[in-house]
Amino acid sequence: MTMPHDDDLLTFVTGRDPEQTEFHQAVGEVLATVKPVLDRNPAYRRLGVLERITEPERVIIFRIPWMDDQGHVRVNRGFRVEMNSALGPYKGGLRFHPSVTLSIMKFLAFEQVFKNALTTLNMGGGKGGADFDPKGRSDEEVMRFCQAFMQELFRHIGPNTDIPAGDIGVGAREIGFLFGMYKKLKNEFTGVLTGKGLTWGGSLIRPEATGYGVVYFAAEMLATRRDSLEDKTCLVSGSGNVAQHTVEKLIELGARPVTLSDSSGFIHDEAGIDREKLAFVKELKNIRRGRIHEYAQRYPQATYTPSEPGADHNPLWTIRADCAFPCATENEINAKDAANLVAGGVTLVCEGANMPCTPAAMDTFLDHRLLYAPGKAANAGGVAVSGLEMAQNSMRLRWPREEVDQRLRHIMHAIHRTCLDAAAAYGMDGNYVAGANIAGFTTVVEAMLDQGLV
Ligand code: GLU
Repeated sequence: MTMPHDDDLLTFVTGRDPEQTEFHQAVGEVLATVKPVLDRNPAYRRLGVLERITEPERVIIFRIPWMDDQGHVRVNRGFRVEMNSALGPYKGGLRFHPSVTLSIMKFLAFEQVFKNALTTLNMGGGKGGADFDPKGRSDEEVMRFCQAFMQELFRHIGPNTDIPAGDIGVGAREIGFLFGMYKKLKNEFTGVLTGKGLTWGGSLIRPEATGYGVVYFAAEMLATRRDSLEDKTCLVSGSGNVAQHTVEKLIELGARPVTLSDSSGFIHDEAGIDREKLAFVKELKNIRRGRIHEYAQRYPQATYTPSEPGADHNPLWTIRADCAFPCATENEINAKDAANLVAGGVTLVCEGANMPCTPAAMDTFLDHRLLYAPGKAANAGGVAVSGLEMAQNSMRLRWPREEVDQRLRHIMHAIHRTCLDAAAAYGMDGNYVAGANIAGFTTVVEAMLDQGLV
């Protein structure tokens, strides 16, 4: 039964900031699945938990003036959304991309709160970034931009307050520049950022963690049907950190990843992307910062399909396969793409990106009873290993690769179990969306209530 109170809340959230469509989408999905929790715990409504959890604790918006290589002054807009600190200091990545708006930041910060709760580590949720486009910018320009960004952000963050990390457009290079400026301004060498370089406080496995975690989660889902990733044909979108390490772990587990993409188009390599081809992709994307179409030049048996702006579907998702791993960006799979995936034989969709499926696409997967994992559960391995990086920084020591990987595996196994148990407790067996939302929500809400009205 629909409770008018909760619907009123979504109307209120929507009406208050009508332009924040991505944020409404993320809130709407959580509200739709936690109604039974509210019905079972009447105090939650009386104590206004939904009103509190959907309003960021703090939002910082700032000007970032910097100078390009031609000596022209540029101005970008920076954000940090400190969403919820019930479980620990705010934690979440920074995104540098021209599409960044307050709506995108709030949706990502909101998702991060539940994701971080699922890891069981003590991390609240936050997100930040800027509408800066790193594409085509020199290393020097990126450095000056990161320094200008940190000149404002430094006063709002700290190793016990708010610990940013990477996201789209923010990788090892940017974290280095950001860390250097933070250290200079504060005269402190602390674990204020995660994703740091290995010699200056970073954790082994952190670069691989999101992608590896996604594949560990997919393997857990398949195991519930007595199946495995071996010999599975897999569609992967994106070609950044998450996509690369998803492909790497898929290869290791005997699957056959056949696609990769960027904003300009996708490649399809029917023979499978193997270790050598993946090494080419890593060099292409991470060092040369080139475009994915070069893959088809280097490996001519692969095809390249440029993206068609305004098209109603993405042909990548029409390729016949067993599993799909959307690792590019939000809303990359719409209802038509979802129908194409189902028609193409896909029985597992595991989200490496944050909210890559529209609500209609999600409904399609749930209606067809696919093994479907939302990003806040499946891609939580990245932030989980960030939590492990924070733990290592606090102890001033470094765990070996095997130990971090072992902990990551264990955390992904536990998240998978938690999702299934939470869904089953509310009669929604096998629904990972409901399970992730219910489990994350309950953990955060209980901590908020323990800490009083703050
Ligand atoms: N940006 C990543 C995410 O979406 C990682 C965040 C972190 O490590 O703090 O979870």
